[in-house]
Amino acid sequence: MQVWKFGGTSVGKPERMKSIRQLITEDGNAKIVVLSALSGSTNSLLSISESLLAGQIAEAQSKAKVLRDHYDTFLSELYQTELGLAKGKSIVDKEFAFIDQLIATSPYGTKQEKEMVALGELLSTQIFEAYLQEEGVNSLLLPALDFMVIDEDNEPILKKIEENLGAILAKQPGKQIYITQGFICRNPQGEVDNLKRGGSDYTASLIGGAIAAEEVQIWTDIDGMHNNDPRIVKNTFPIRELSFAEAAELAYFGAKILHPSTITPAKLKGVPVRLKNTMEPSAYGTLISEKSTDVEIKAIAAKDNITAIYIHSTRMLNAYGFLKRVFEVFEKYKTPVDMITTSEVSVSVTIDQTTHLDSIMSELREFAELEDPDKDQVIICIVGNFWADKEGIAIKVLNAMKNIPIRMISYGASEHNISLLVDAKHKNESLNALNEGLFF
Ligand code: ADP
Ligand code: ASP
Ligand code: MG
Repeated sequence: MQVWKFGGTSVGKPERMKSIRQLITEDGNAKIVVLSALSGSTNSLLSISESLLAGQIAEAQSKAKVLRDHYDTFLSELYQTELGLAKGKSIVDKEFAFIDQLIATSPYGTKQEKEMVALGELLSTQIFEAYLQEEGVNSLLLPALDFMVIDEDNEPILKKIEENLGAILAKQPGKQIYITQGFICRNPQGEVDNLKRGGSDYTASLIGGAIAAEEVQIWTDIDGMHNNDPRIVKNTFPIRELSFAEAAELAYFGAKILHPSTITPAKLKGVPVRLKNTMEPSAYGTLISEKSTDVEIKAIAAKDNITAIYIHSTRMLNAYGFLKRVFEVFEKYKTPVDMITTSEVSVSVTIDQTTHLDSIMSELREFAELEDPDKDQVIICIVGNFWADKEGIAIKVLNAMKNIPIRMISYGASEHNISLLVDAKHKNESLNALNEGLFF
């Protein structure tokens, strides 16, 4: 079986839903189809939630009304029959009644916010399933909340997902299309939770890993992974093939087309991931698999909201055990470190989760001297094949960056990644300069 995931823009308009109905059924093969919320819905739900957290009930109600109107228009353009439309209306009635219930909940907190934000995927999948039924497709909705589970650290539990989904599918065999929600899951308390923004990609690869799918396809609004961020750089082009390692680096370091964790389960289970364009299904897209091509420099990505911490040992030279103590502090606060550079007495690290920054700083101060952290930094990550005996790569990178101040450089940790830290104000300039210098 294959797993196909359609993002917000791919289901955001009635005509798009109609074209994906065509896409998923025309080859006749059975598949699990993961849907995101209609484009804009998750943001709207979060905005309603923000109003509620700020105690602005009337504002939340009027935002909910705007959203409801959007769904009503959507339904009237999607369904062809009275029966289909009535089914669609009853779905929207039910879920908006739940929104009203959440609006009336006091106190309104994170638990309610997670229930609110889950409604985007709950709505899109039920609306689509009713449409497939109207069209006579042999389909079934599998509620993600019945099988997608995360642990205390918000990490999906692949083994459990595999067991849950295996049991569900065994009970309901023989369907051509199984629809499910991306993004949403249950936490160890049994509450509704989610896999963070953009999480539907992750859902698809988790399902792909769980059922050992033949392939996972991520359908979006662009013809595959490009060599640079197309929102910032003009002359970008799609990359036909990427290895799991290369794609994982790009997703982790900011290529928005994939949720940062998407590659992990696919790589673990050896399931290829193909990125495809819903607007142009015949375009090749990008194939991510075990294989790599020999291309030297493949792509560039940028990860925002990075904080750099500069740590100096208060002890003399040659002190061992210093790095261990430094990293123990980050471990204690469950804060991942992205980039590290060292000199004999100093170490600089970057983090993107700053919830515990103050505690981390004060614990580090017990045995080290610290400079003020630099917030608003960006990691620019260059991905390719940088074998240890290859010459001339660093010079190309540094040459392209010759007019831009670089705070940190990391080269040699993997054969696939060179990372540079720059101030956020130099991000666009860096991506453009590297594009010119490395690809043209
Ligand atoms: P979806 O809603 O389908 O999940 P996303 O908006 O999350 O789609 O991801 C697709 C978008 O990612 C593209 O429209 C593009 O603007 C952006 N993007 C950023 N970096 C890249 C890249 N390197 N290659 C392709 N797309 C990228
Ligand atoms: N709907 C969620 C979001 O907007 C998940 C996703 O689209 O992947 O973040
Ligand atoms: Mg996305």
